[in-house]
Amino acid sequence: MKKYDVVIVGAGPAGLKCAETLGGSGKTVLLLERNEKIGPKVCAGGLTGKDIAYLNLPKELVEYSYNEVLVHVKGVTKQIKWDEDFAYTIDREELGQWQLKKLQVFPNVEVRTGCRVSKVTSEFVQFGDEQIAYNYLVGADGSNSVVKRYLGFTNPPQGIGIQYIIPTDQFQKFEFFFDPSYFSAWYAWIFPHRGYVSIGCGASPKVLPAKALQDNFHRWLKEQKIDISDARYEAFPMNYDFTGIEFGNIFLTGDAAGLLSSFTGEGIFQALVSGEEVAKMILSPGYVSPKIPELIHKHKRHREVLDRLIGAGKWLTALFLCGLLLFNFKKYREKAINLLG
Ligand SMILES: Cc1cc2nc3c(=O)[nH]c(=O)nc-3n(C[C@H](O)[C@H](O)[C@H](O)COP(=O)(O)OP(=O)(O)OC[C@H]3O[C@@H](n4cnc5c(N)ncnc54)[C@H](O)[C@@H]3O)c2cc1C
Repeated sequence: MKKYDVVIVGAGPAGLKCAETLGGSGKTVLLLERNEKIGPKVCAGGLTGKDIAYLNLPKELVEYSYNEVLVHVKGVTKQIKWDEDFAYTIDREELGQWQLKKLQVFPNVEVRTGCRVSKVTSEFVQFGDEQIAYNYLVGADGSNSVVKRYLGFTNPPQGIGIQYIIPTDQFQKFEFFFDPSYFSAWYAWIFPHRGYVSIGCGASPKVLPAKALQDNFHRWLKEQKIDISDARYEAFPMNYDFTGIEFGNIFLTGDAAGLLSSFTGEGIFQALVSGEEVAKMILSPGYVSPKIPELIHKHKRHREVLDRLIGAGKWLTALFLCGLLLFNFKKYREKAINLLG
């Protein structure tokens, strides 16, 4: 059986960043991806300034950048504006392909696509009839992680995100819509891309069952007079049940670790940071990551905010409206951006 120092399952932002960080080291690395093409993923492709800075993303990969967003609460609209750009959109396929290209310079990193890992043991992973042994295993395989299940975490993902990809340039603004009668404590978004727009929403099926969310979304789209006749419908689980990063010689990263934000649905940044930090842990056993505790802290804060919002029940709309009003005050604005951004 062939053996690698590190086997990474999943070539999303987390797995690719992990492989990149291990690139050029003395370790042999195998990155396994179930899809033939690296990059495409059900995602709205929205980023904040911290993602752009962290990724050091070339300008041409940023589709649109915004120094203002529109926030709507039950028909009340507020324009939130900054001096600098703070919201961006990228295409997930382009991001994946760009991250992949960076690996080409590393002879110690091998990437194999079309390899869906179906079995994990303490010694090897299996895809098709092939078994590959590892010293370290990294689960970067997203919300339905096979590595996470092997570790004994069998709870299904807690959230679901749905979106329509509409081939149009008609939408130019970055927008959020809060309306508890449709989306409970969550929201709908409009994120414009080059040649298309992502219009979607998310929720926890425990609070808003998937079918009810879908029905509400369709009612909302109709009310907004958004034409979806040419659109592609997509839905994907969102795992925000954080279960830990390090399990001996096995690690979880990104959505596999449940690092996605339960409130905003943002997960690309957490995937990138955890991918890099896990690689550093593998390269220097004993390395204590300063960044992982920050991710976990923010993850918990978002969970608290969400729980409070859900607990607000019939006062939720009032709470959202108060939040919108508070955006008039710089101090609150900065606090909110710090929490959410
Ligand atoms: C509708 C929706 C909208 C979203 N919008 C945003 C947004 O605007 N901004 C943001 O920051 N986040 C957003 N997210 C979250 C974001 O998509 C994820 O947090 C992010 O992709 C996590 O990266 P990852 O590398 O951990 O996992 P993924 O991107 O899911 O990558 C996992 C990879 O593993 C592969 N894989 C899975 N199982 C196996 C297996 N058994 N064997 C081999 N390979 C496997 C998959 O094919 C995939 O390529 C959104 C999510 C949804 C559902």
